[in-house]
Amino acid sequence: MAVGDGEVITVVKDMGLVTTVFDERTLSCLPGHLAIGHTRYSTAGGSEWRHAQPVFRSVDEASFALGHNGNLTNTAELAERAGMLPGVVATDSDLVAELLAHAHTHEGAEAEGQKSPLGGGVLEVALRRVLPSLEGGFSLVLMDANRVFGVRDPHGFRPLCLGRLGPEDAPVGWVLASETPALDVIGANFVREIEPGELVVIDESGPRSAFVFPETTIQPHLCIFEFVYFARPDSQLYGREVHGARRRMGELLATQAPVEADMVMGVPDSGLPAAEGYARQSGIPYGQGLVKNRYIGRTFITPGQDARDAGVRRKLNPLRENIAGKRLVVVDDSIVRGTTPRLLVRMLRDAGATEVHLRISSPPFRWPCFYGIDTPTRSELLAAQRSVDEIKDFLEVDSLEYLTLENLVKAIDAPGAGFCSACLTGNYPVAVHPTPDTEEVGTAVPARA
Ligand code: SF4
Repeated sequence: MAVGDGEVITVVKDMGLVTTVFDERTLSCLPGHLAIGHTRYSTAGGSEWRHAQPVFRSVDEASFALGHNGNLTNTAELAERAGMLPGVVATDSDLVAELLAHAHTHEGAEAEGQKSPLGGGVLEVALRRVLPSLEGGFSLVLMDANRVFGVRDPHGFRPLCLGRLGPEDAPVGWVLASETPALDVIGANFVREIEPGELVVIDESGPRSAFVFPETTIQPHLCIFEFVYFARPDSQLYGREVHGARRRMGELLATQAPVEADMVMGVPDSGLPAAEGYARQSGIPYGQGLVKNRYIGRTFITPGQDARDAGVRRKLNPLRENIAGKRLVVVDDSIVRGTTPRLLVRMLRDAGATEVHLRISSPPFRWPCFYGIDTPTRSELLAAQRSVDEIKDFLEVDSLEYLTLENLVKAIDAPGAGFCSACLTGNYPVAVHPTPDTEEVGTAVPARA
Protein backbone atom coordinates (compact mmCIF):
# COMPACT_ATOMS: atom_id res chain seq x y z
CA MET A 1 0.00 0.00 0.00
CA ALA A 2 0.99 3.60 -0.54
CA VAL A 3 -0.59 6.02 1.93
CA GLY A 4 -0.50 9.82 1.79
CA ASP A 5 -1.27 12.46 4.41
CA GLY A 6 -1.07 15.42 2.03
CA GLU A 7 2.69 15.78 2.35
CA VAL A 8 4.44 12.43 2.58
CA ILE A 9 3.70 9.19 0.73
CA THR A 10 4.63 6.07 2.72
CA VAL A 11 4.88 2.74 0.89
CA VAL A 12 4.72 -0.63 2.64
CA LYS A 13 4.92 -3.76 0.49
CA ASP A 14 6.10 -7.31 0.94
CA MET A 15 5.63 -10.87 -0.27
CA GLY A 16 2.75 -12.85 1.20
CA LEU A 17 -0.95 -12.58 1.90
CA VAL A 18 -2.45 -9.19 2.72
CA THR A 19 -3.25 -10.29 6.27
CA THR A 20 0.36 -11.34 6.82
CA VAL A 21 1.89 -8.15 5.45
CA PHE A 22 -0.58 -5.74 7.05
CA ASP A 23 -1.06 -6.56 10.70
CA GLU A 24 -2.60 -4.05 13.09
CA ARG A 25 0.79 -2.66 14.08
CA THR A 26 1.82 -1.95 10.48
CA LEU A 27 -1.52 -0.37 9.69
CA SER A 28 -1.36 1.89 12.74
CA CYS A 29 1.88 3.35 11.34
CA LEU A 30 0.19 4.42 8.11
CA PRO A 31 -1.67 7.66 8.78
CA GLY A 32 -3.25 9.47 5.85
CA HIS A 33 -6.41 10.20 3.90
CA LEU A 34 -5.27 8.92 0.47
CA ALA A 35 -4.13 5.43 -0.36
CA ILE A 36 -3.66 2.96 -3.17
CA GLY A 37 -3.14 -0.79 -2.78
CA HIS A 38 -2.16 -3.66 -5.01
CA THR A 39 -2.07 -7.45 -4.78
CA ARG A 40 -0.15 -9.51 -7.24
CA TYR A 41 -0.19 -13.21 -7.99
CA SER A 42 3.06 -15.00 -8.66
CA THR A 43 4.01 -15.87 -12.23
CA ALA A 44 6.44 -18.26 -13.88
CA GLY A 45 9.30 -15.83 -13.68
CA GLY A 46 8.20 -12.97 -11.57
CA SER A 47 7.64 -13.64 -7.91
CA GLU A 48 10.24 -11.48 -6.23
CA TRP A 49 10.09 -8.61 -3.82
CA ARG A 50 11.18 -6.11 -6.48
CA HIS A 51 8.04 -6.96 -8.50
CA ALA A 52 5.73 -6.00 -5.65
CA GLN A 53 3.66 -2.86 -6.08
CA PRO A 54 2.79 0.00 -5.68
CA VAL A 55 5.83 1.30 -7.57
CA PHE A 56 7.13 4.52 -6.03
CA ARG A 57 9.04 7.39 -7.68
CA SER A 58 10.31 10.62 -6.25
CA VAL A 59 10.90 13.46 -8.72
CA ASP A 60 12.40 16.69 -7.38
CA GLU A 61 10.05 17.74 -4.59
CA ALA A 62 7.17 15.62 -5.87
CA SER A 63 6.53 11.92 -5.59
CA PHE A 64 3.96 9.45 -6.81
CA ALA A 65 3.01 5.78 -6.50
CA LEU A 66 1.44 3.48 -9.07
CA GLY A 67 -0.40 0.15 -9.13
CA HIS A 68 -0.94 -1.68 -12.42
CA ASN A 69 -3.29 -4.48 -13.41
CA GLY A 70 -2.53 -5.89 -16.87
CA ASN A 71 0.41 -6.35 -19.21
CA LEU A 72 1.88 -3.95 -21.75
CA THR A 73 2.66 -5.41 -25.18
CA ASN A 74 5.24 -2.84 -26.31
CA THR A 75 7.55 -2.86 -23.28
CA ALA A 76 10.77 -3.40 -25.25
CA GLU A 77 9.95 -0.60 -27.67
CA LEU A 78 9.07 1.81 -24.85
CA ALA A 79 12.23 0.98 -22.91
CA GLU A 80 14.34 1.49 -25.99
CA ARG A 81 12.63 4.76 -26.83
CA ALA A 82 13.24 5.97 -23.29
CA GLY A 83 16.89 4.95 -23.56
CA MET A 84 16.65 2.34 -20.80
CA LEU A 85 18.97 -0.61 -20.78
CA PRO A 86 17.44 -4.11 -20.72
CA GLY A 87 17.12 -5.33 -17.14
CA VAL A 88 17.03 -1.85 -15.63
CA VAL A 89 13.27 -1.95 -15.13
CA ALA A 90 11.86 -4.86 -13.11
CA THR A 91 8.39 -4.96 -14.70
CA ASP A 92 6.26 -3.19 -17.27
CA SER A 93 4.64 -1.35 -14.35
CA ASP A 94 8.09 -0.15 -13.30
CA LEU A 95 8.62 1.06 -16.85
CA VAL A 96 5.39 3.10 -16.79
CA ALA A 97 6.54 4.72 -13.54
CA GLU A 98 9.91 5.45 -15.10
CA LEU A 99 8.31 7.06 -18.17
CA LEU A 100 6.06 9.15 -15.94
CA ALA A 101 9.04 10.26 -13.87
CA HIS A 102 10.83 11.30 -17.09
CA ALA A 103 7.77 13.24 -18.24
CA HIS A 104 7.56 14.82 -14.77
CA THR A 105 11.01 16.32 -15.13
CA HIS A 106 10.49 17.28 -18.76
CA GLU A 107 11.14 20.95 -19.31
CA GLY A 108 7.95 22.92 -18.89
CA ALA A 109 5.98 20.15 -17.21
CA GLU A 110 5.82 22.14 -14.01
CA ALA A 111 4.34 25.13 -15.82
CA GLU A 112 1.88 22.93 -17.72
CA GLY A 113 0.94 21.29 -14.46
CA GLN A 114 -0.69 24.55 -13.43
CA LYS A 115 -3.01 24.15 -16.41
CA SER A 116 -3.87 20.48 -16.14
CA PRO A 117 -7.51 20.39 -17.30
CA LEU A 118 -8.66 18.03 -14.54
CA GLY A 119 -6.69 19.82 -11.83
CA GLY A 120 -4.38 16.83 -11.55
CA GLY A 121 -1.17 18.90 -11.58
CA VAL A 122 2.13 17.66 -12.92
CA LEU A 123 1.20 14.00 -12.68
CA GLU A 124 -1.84 14.59 -14.91
CA VAL A 125 0.40 16.32 -17.47
CA ALA A 126 2.86 13.42 -17.32
CA LEU A 127 0.02 10.91 -17.75
CA ARG A 128 -1.36 12.75 -20.76
CA ARG A 129 2.11 12.63 -22.31
CA VAL A 130 2.87 8.99 -21.57
CA LEU A 131 -0.44 7.12 -21.77
CA PRO A 132 -0.99 7.34 -25.57
CA SER A 133 2.34 5.56 -26.12
CA LEU A 134 1.38 2.51 -24.02
CA GLU A 135 -0.05 -0.58 -25.73
CA GLY A 136 -1.69 -3.63 -24.21
CA GLY A 137 -3.74 -4.11 -21.07
CA PHE A 138 -3.51 -1.61 -18.24
CA SER A 139 -5.85 -0.47 -15.54
CA LEU A 140 -3.82 1.86 -13.33
CA VAL A 141 -4.30 3.51 -9.97
CA LEU A 142 -1.89 6.28 -8.98
CA MET A 143 -1.52 8.86 -6.28
CA ASP A 144 0.52 11.95 -5.61
CA ALA A 145 0.53 13.90 -2.36
CA ASN A 146 -2.99 15.29 -2.87
CA ARG A 147 -4.89 13.18 -5.39
CA VAL A 148 -5.76 9.69 -6.52
CA PHE A 149 -5.85 8.86 -10.25
CA GLY A 150 -7.38 5.99 -12.21
CA VAL A 151 -6.79 5.02 -15.85
CA ARG A 152 -8.23 2.32 -18.08
CA ASP A 153 -6.56 1.43 -21.39
CA PRO A 154 -8.48 2.23 -24.60
CA HIS A 155 -9.58 -1.42 -24.96
CA GLY A 156 -10.58 -1.76 -21.31
CA PHE A 157 -9.10 -5.26 -21.10
CA ARG A 158 -9.07 -5.19 -17.32
CA PRO A 159 -11.94 -3.79 -15.25
CA LEU A 160 -11.89 -0.70 -13.04
CA CYS A 161 -14.81 0.87 -11.22
CA LEU A 162 -15.66 3.94 -9.17
CA GLY A 163 -17.41 3.89 -5.81
CA ARG A 164 -18.63 6.47 -3.32
CA LEU A 165 -18.52 6.46 0.46
CA GLY A 166 -21.44 8.24 2.07
CA PRO A 167 -24.69 9.59 0.60
CA GLU A 168 -24.92 10.92 -2.95
CA ASP A 169 -25.56 14.50 -1.82
CA ALA A 170 -22.79 14.49 0.81
CA PRO A 171 -20.06 11.99 -0.12
CA VAL A 172 -17.31 11.49 2.41
CA GLY A 173 -14.89 9.58 0.18
CA TRP A 174 -14.26 8.04 -3.22
CA VAL A 175 -12.86 4.66 -4.19
CA LEU A 176 -11.45 3.05 -7.33
CA ALA A 177 -11.30 -0.75 -7.46
CA SER A 178 -10.69 -3.58 -9.92
CA GLU A 179 -13.87 -5.31 -8.82
CA THR A 180 -17.12 -4.14 -7.28
CA PRO A 181 -17.01 -6.50 -4.25
CA ALA A 182 -14.12 -4.37 -2.95
CA LEU A 183 -16.65 -1.54 -2.68
CA ASP A 184 -19.21 -3.72 -0.92
CA VAL A 185 -16.83 -4.82 1.83
CA ILE A 186 -16.07 -1.24 2.86
CA GLY A 187 -19.66 -0.09 2.56
CA ALA A 188 -19.10 2.04 -0.55
CA ASN A 189 -21.75 2.43 -3.25
CA PHE A 190 -21.01 1.43 -6.82
CA VAL A 191 -21.16 4.55 -9.01
CA ARG A 192 -20.04 3.32 -12.42
CA GLU A 193 -17.38 1.48 -14.39
CA ILE A 194 -14.48 3.59 -15.60
CA GLU A 195 -14.75 3.66 -19.41
CA PRO A 196 -12.04 2.33 -21.70
CA GLY A 197 -9.62 5.20 -22.40
CA GLU A 198 -10.76 7.29 -19.43
CA LEU A 199 -8.55 9.12 -16.92
CA VAL A 200 -10.09 9.98 -13.54
CA VAL A 201 -8.65 12.43 -11.04
CA ILE A 202 -10.01 12.47 -7.48
CA ASP A 203 -9.27 15.10 -4.84
CA GLU A 204 -11.20 16.71 -2.00
CA SER A 205 -13.71 18.16 -4.49
CA GLY A 206 -14.56 14.72 -5.92
CA PRO A 207 -13.88 12.90 -9.20
CA ARG A 208 -13.35 14.52 -12.59
CA SER A 209 -12.55 12.65 -15.78
CA ALA A 210 -11.55 12.93 -19.42
CA PHE A 211 -10.71 10.70 -22.36
CA VAL A 212 -6.99 10.98 -22.98
CA PHE A 213 -6.38 8.56 -25.85
CA PRO A 214 -6.99 9.22 -29.56
CA GLU A 215 -10.66 8.50 -30.28
CA THR A 216 -9.83 5.95 -32.97
CA THR A 217 -7.98 3.78 -30.46
CA ILE A 218 -10.94 3.44 -28.10
CA GLN A 219 -12.40 0.00 -28.87
CA PRO A 220 -13.88 -1.81 -25.84
CA HIS A 221 -12.53 -5.36 -25.45
CA LEU A 222 -13.17 -6.42 -21.87
CA CYS A 223 -11.47 -9.76 -21.11
CA ILE A 224 -14.17 -12.40 -21.61
CA PHE A 225 -12.33 -14.61 -19.13
CA GLU A 226 -13.24 -12.23 -16.33
CA PHE A 227 -16.76 -13.64 -16.79
CA VAL A 228 -15.57 -17.24 -17.15
CA TYR A 229 -13.05 -17.49 -14.34
CA PHE A 230 -11.20 -14.44 -13.05
CA ALA A 231 -13.77 -12.12 -11.56
CA ARG A 232 -15.44 -12.90 -8.28
CA PRO A 233 -18.98 -14.23 -8.80
CA ASP A 234 -20.42 -11.23 -6.95
CA SER A 235 -18.67 -8.77 -9.29
CA GLN A 236 -20.64 -6.53 -11.60
CA LEU A 237 -19.22 -6.18 -15.11
CA TYR A 238 -21.01 -4.50 -18.01
CA GLY A 239 -23.90 -4.11 -15.58
CA ARG A 240 -24.23 -7.91 -15.12
CA GLU A 241 -23.50 -9.97 -12.05
CA VAL A 242 -20.85 -12.54 -12.94
CA HIS A 243 -22.54 -15.39 -11.04
CA GLY A 244 -25.69 -15.11 -13.17
CA ALA A 245 -23.64 -15.17 -16.38
CA ARG A 246 -21.83 -18.31 -15.19
CA ARG A 247 -25.10 -20.00 -14.32
CA ARG A 248 -26.48 -19.22 -17.80
CA MET A 249 -23.26 -20.66 -19.32
CA GLY A 250 -24.18 -23.93 -17.58
CA GLU A 251 -27.79 -23.77 -18.77
CA LEU A 252 -26.71 -23.27 -22.37
CA LEU A 253 -24.10 -26.03 -22.01
CA ALA A 254 -26.85 -28.42 -20.90
CA THR A 255 -28.90 -27.56 -23.99
CA GLN A 256 -25.88 -27.74 -26.26
CA ALA A 257 -24.34 -30.93 -24.82
CA PRO A 258 -26.88 -33.09 -22.95
CA VAL A 259 -25.97 -36.46 -21.43
CA GLU A 260 -27.67 -39.11 -19.28
CA ALA A 261 -26.26 -39.03 -15.76
CA ASP A 262 -27.14 -39.33 -12.05
CA MET A 263 -25.54 -36.19 -10.65
CA VAL A 264 -24.17 -32.84 -11.81
CA MET A 265 -21.25 -31.46 -9.84
CA GLY A 266 -18.98 -28.47 -10.29
CA VAL A 267 -15.25 -28.08 -9.77
CA PRO A 268 -14.93 -25.54 -6.94
CA ASP A 269 -15.11 -22.62 -7.04
CA SER A 270 -15.52 -21.12 -10.49
CA GLY A 271 -17.17 -24.27 -11.95
CA LEU A 272 -19.97 -24.25 -9.38
CA PRO A 273 -22.37 -21.65 -10.83
CA ALA A 274 -22.20 -23.28 -14.29
CA ALA A 275 -22.85 -26.69 -12.70
CA GLU A 276 -25.88 -25.19 -10.96
CA GLY A 277 -27.13 -23.96 -14.34
CA TYR A 278 -26.44 -27.30 -16.03
CA ALA A 279 -28.40 -29.16 -13.33
CA ARG A 280 -31.30 -26.70 -13.47
CA GLN A 281 -31.61 -26.92 -17.25
CA SER A 282 -31.07 -30.70 -17.54
CA GLY A 283 -33.16 -31.74 -14.55
CA ILE A 284 -30.30 -33.97 -13.31
CA PRO A 285 -29.85 -33.61 -9.51
CA TYR A 286 -27.11 -31.24 -8.40
CA GLY A 287 -24.67 -32.51 -5.78
CA GLN A 288 -21.34 -31.78 -4.22
CA GLY A 289 -18.55 -34.11 -5.29
CA LEU A 290 -15.46 -32.26 -4.17
CA VAL A 291 -14.65 -30.37 -1.00
CA LYS A 292 -12.30 -27.46 -1.25
CA ASN A 293 -9.73 -26.44 1.29
CA ARG A 294 -10.45 -22.73 1.34
CA TYR A 295 -6.98 -21.78 2.55
CA ILE A 296 -5.22 -22.95 -0.62
CA GLY A 297 -4.94 -20.58 -3.58
CA ARG A 298 -5.37 -21.06 -7.34
CA THR A 299 -3.16 -23.88 -8.59
CA PHE A 300 -2.57 -23.09 -12.25
CA ILE A 301 -0.35 -20.19 -11.23
CA THR A 302 1.83 -22.25 -8.92
CA PRO A 303 5.15 -22.75 -10.71
CA GLY A 304 6.11 -26.37 -11.48
CA GLN A 305 3.92 -29.39 -12.30
CA ASP A 306 4.75 -31.44 -9.19
CA ALA A 307 3.87 -28.47 -7.00
CA ARG A 308 0.63 -28.03 -8.96
CA ASP A 309 -0.34 -31.72 -8.55
CA ALA A 310 0.38 -31.62 -4.84
CA GLY A 311 -1.56 -28.35 -4.72
CA VAL A 312 -4.64 -29.97 -6.33
CA ARG A 313 -4.61 -32.85 -3.81
CA ARG A 314 -4.28 -30.43 -0.92
CA LYS A 315 -6.99 -28.23 -2.38
CA LEU A 316 -9.69 -30.68 -3.47
CA ASN A 317 -10.85 -33.91 -1.85
CA PRO A 318 -13.68 -36.14 -3.18
CA LEU A 319 -16.88 -36.82 -1.23
CA ARG A 320 -16.95 -40.61 -1.63
CA GLU A 321 -20.51 -41.29 -0.46
CA ASN A 322 -21.89 -38.75 -2.91
CA ILE A 323 -19.86 -40.07 -5.83
CA ALA A 324 -19.69 -43.87 -5.50
CA GLY A 325 -21.68 -45.77 -8.12
CA LYS A 326 -22.81 -42.62 -9.94
CA ARG A 327 -22.60 -41.39 -13.51
CA LEU A 328 -21.27 -37.85 -13.07
CA VAL A 329 -21.51 -34.69 -15.14
CA VAL A 330 -18.50 -32.66 -13.99
CA VAL A 331 -18.61 -28.97 -14.90
CA ASP A 332 -15.48 -26.80 -14.94
CA ASP A 333 -14.87 -23.33 -16.35
CA SER A 334 -11.81 -24.00 -18.54
CA ILE A 335 -8.89 -26.32 -19.24
CA VAL A 336 -5.41 -24.79 -19.47
CA ARG A 337 -2.68 -27.45 -19.31
CA GLY A 338 -5.09 -30.28 -18.61
CA THR A 339 -3.06 -31.78 -15.80
CA THR A 340 -5.43 -30.65 -13.05
CA PRO A 341 -8.65 -32.07 -14.61
CA ARG A 342 -6.82 -35.30 -15.46
CA LEU A 343 -5.86 -35.71 -11.82
CA LEU A 344 -9.39 -34.80 -10.70
CA VAL A 345 -10.97 -37.37 -13.02
CA ARG A 346 -8.71 -40.06 -11.54
CA MET A 347 -9.64 -38.97 -8.03
CA LEU A 348 -13.35 -39.21 -8.90
CA ARG A 349 -12.97 -42.67 -10.46
CA ASP A 350 -10.95 -43.85 -7.45
CA ALA A 351 -13.82 -42.59 -5.29
CA GLY A 352 -16.22 -44.89 -7.20
CA ALA A 353 -17.68 -42.79 -10.06
CA THR A 354 -18.86 -45.15 -12.83
CA GLU A 355 -18.84 -42.52 -15.61
CA VAL A 356 -17.34 -39.04 -15.85
CA HIS A 357 -18.76 -36.63 -18.45
CA LEU A 358 -16.79 -33.40 -18.50
CA ARG A 359 -18.52 -30.16 -19.54
CA ILE A 360 -16.49 -26.95 -19.92
CA SER A 361 -18.29 -23.60 -19.71
CA SER A 362 -16.00 -21.86 -22.24
CA PRO A 363 -14.48 -22.76 -25.63
CA PRO A 364 -11.04 -24.46 -25.85
CA PHE A 365 -8.22 -22.28 -24.50
CA ARG A 366 -5.83 -22.35 -27.47
CA TRP A 367 -3.77 -19.16 -27.39
CA PRO A 368 -1.65 -17.42 -24.75
CA CYS A 369 -2.83 -14.15 -23.20
CA PHE A 370 -0.67 -11.03 -23.48
CA TYR A 371 -2.93 -8.59 -21.73
CA GLY A 372 -2.45 -9.47 -18.09
CA ILE A 373 -3.39 -13.08 -17.52
CA ASP A 374 -0.45 -15.38 -17.03
CA THR A 375 -0.84 -18.38 -19.25
CA PRO A 376 1.70 -20.98 -20.35
CA THR A 377 3.31 -21.03 -23.79
CA ARG A 378 1.27 -22.43 -26.68
CA SER A 379 3.15 -25.69 -26.45
CA GLU A 380 1.84 -26.18 -22.90
CA LEU A 381 -1.79 -25.30 -23.69
CA LEU A 382 -3.63 -28.60 -24.03
CA ALA A 383 -6.15 -27.40 -26.60
CA ALA A 384 -3.46 -25.82 -28.80
CA GLN A 385 -1.97 -29.24 -29.37
CA ARG A 386 -4.99 -31.56 -29.51
CA SER A 387 -8.47 -31.96 -30.98
CA VAL A 388 -11.43 -32.21 -28.57
CA ASP A 389 -11.45 -35.99 -29.12
CA GLU A 390 -7.77 -36.24 -28.27
CA ILE A 391 -8.32 -34.13 -25.15
CA LYS A 392 -11.13 -36.50 -24.13
CA ASP A 393 -8.71 -39.44 -24.40
CA PHE A 394 -5.96 -37.59 -22.56
CA LEU A 395 -8.27 -36.73 -19.66
CA GLU A 396 -9.72 -40.28 -19.64
CA VAL A 397 -13.32 -39.05 -19.53
CA ASP A 398 -16.36 -40.75 -21.04
CA SER A 399 -17.38 -37.61 -22.93
CA LEU A 400 -16.17 -34.01 -23.24
CA GLU A 401 -17.94 -30.91 -24.53
CA TYR A 402 -16.99 -27.22 -24.53
CA LEU A 403 -19.43 -24.29 -24.61
CA THR A 404 -19.34 -22.51 -27.98
CA LEU A 405 -18.17 -18.90 -28.17
CA GLU A 406 -21.61 -17.92 -29.45
CA ASN A 407 -23.26 -19.44 -26.36
CA LEU A 408 -20.67 -17.89 -24.06
CA VAL A 409 -21.49 -14.41 -25.38
CA LYS A 410 -25.20 -15.22 -25.21
CA ALA A 411 -24.82 -16.26 -21.55
CA ILE A 412 -23.13 -12.97 -20.63
CA ASP A 413 -26.11 -11.21 -22.19
CA ALA A 414 -24.59 -7.76 -22.71
CA PRO A 415 -25.75 -6.80 -26.21
CA GLY A 416 -23.36 -4.51 -28.06
CA ALA A 417 -20.57 -4.96 -25.47
CA GLY A 418 -17.05 -5.55 -26.80
CA PHE A 419 -14.97 -8.51 -25.65
CA CYS A 420 -11.46 -9.80 -26.03
CA SER A 421 -11.53 -13.53 -26.72
CA ALA A 422 -8.04 -13.85 -28.17
CA CYS A 423 -7.08 -16.88 -26.06
CA LEU A 424 -10.06 -18.71 -27.58
CA THR A 425 -9.88 -17.44 -31.16
CA GLY A 426 -6.33 -16.21 -31.78
CA ASN A 427 -7.73 -12.80 -32.84
CA TYR A 428 -5.63 -10.36 -30.80
CA PRO A 429 -7.16 -6.85 -30.57
CA VAL A 430 -3.69 -5.36 -29.96
CA ALA A 431 -0.77 -6.71 -31.95
CA VAL A 432 1.72 -8.77 -29.98
CA HIS A 433 5.40 -9.19 -30.77
CA PRO A 434 6.69 -11.71 -31.52
CA THR A 435 3.71 -13.42 -33.05
CA PRO A 436 1.65 -15.71 -30.80
CA ASP A 437 2.66 -18.94 -32.45
CA THR A 438 6.35 -18.57 -31.87
CA GLU A 439 7.45 -20.45 -28.80
CA GLU A 440 9.11 -17.59 -26.95
CA VAL A 441 5.84 -15.80 -26.43
CA GLY A 442 3.62 -16.51 -23.51
CA THR A 443 6.50 -17.04 -21.13
CA ALA A 444 4.93 -14.05 -19.49
CA VAL A 445 6.55 -10.87 -18.48
CA PRO A 446 5.82 -10.31 -14.78
CA ALA A 447 2.24 -9.58 -14.70
CA ARG A 448 -1.17 -8.90 -13.48
CA ALA A 449 -2.37 -8.06 -10.07
S1 SF4 B 1 -6.52 -13.15 -24.32
FE1 SF4 B 1 -8.09 -14.22 -23.08
S2 SF4 B 1 -7.42 -14.00 -20.97
FE2 SF4 B 1 -6.30 -12.48 -22.18
S3 SF4 B 1 -7.50 -10.59 -22.09
FE3 SF4 B 1 -8.14 -11.68 -23.92
S4 SF4 B 1 -9.88 -12.94 -23.24
FE4 SF4 B 1 -8.79 -12.29 -21.41
